[in-house]
Amino acid sequence: MNILTDNITLLKNKMVRISLNVKEQKREKIEIVSDSYQIPFLEGLTKKTIIAGRNRVNLYYLNCSCKIYRLNVKKYPRRDLRRICNHLYTKLFSEAENNLDELSKLMLHNQFWFSQTDVRRIKFYKDILYTGFHKDHNIISLFRDQDGWEKFVFEITNNNWRNGLSPLYKENKLNELEKLIAELNNDFLQSLKS
Ligand SMILES: [Zn+2]
Repeated sequence: MNILTDNITLLKNKMVRISLNVKEQKREKIEIVSDSYQIPFLEGLTKKTIIAGRNRVNLYYLNCSCKIYRLNVKKYPRRDLRRICNHLYTKLFSEAENNLDELSKLMLHNQFWFSQTDVRRIKFYKDILYTGFHKDHNIISLFRDQDGWEKFVFEITNNNWRNGLSPLYKENKLNELEKLIAELNNDFLQSLKS
């Protein structure tokens, strides 16, 4: 009798352990890898400083002498997308567009033209994706490499992908992704209030 109850307890413990393992594995499949986007060093650029109106801009080090840039330096790490001011943005595209990688271009445009304010890098099963948050708009951006980086826009109010263009996933995975980015976006909006 005792042996039997002991065995049942053992078995139950084992089952608990197995179910924990399954949860842990699932957790590893989806993970926030980073809460920022860093612009990689631009290959083939000289280190010289150029003049942009009243400011001095350096595209190699990605810095500018303007007030906004200097304020951003205190808030964000080196090469962080959020450090980039208007002068850097303009000069990057007029002087060094060919040195920029595709993802950085999409990210820069999204920040300057579509008010993206924050980025998360996420591991979603075997993929590395980026989500962009827009604090004043009911949209979430999603960047995925599908034979080259592409941007997708999820419209929160309609619960739909803009123009019906979604990342190429099967329905279950796409639903999971939509839930995930909505949750992350909510967390982001909450963090602005606190
Ligand atoms: Zn500037």
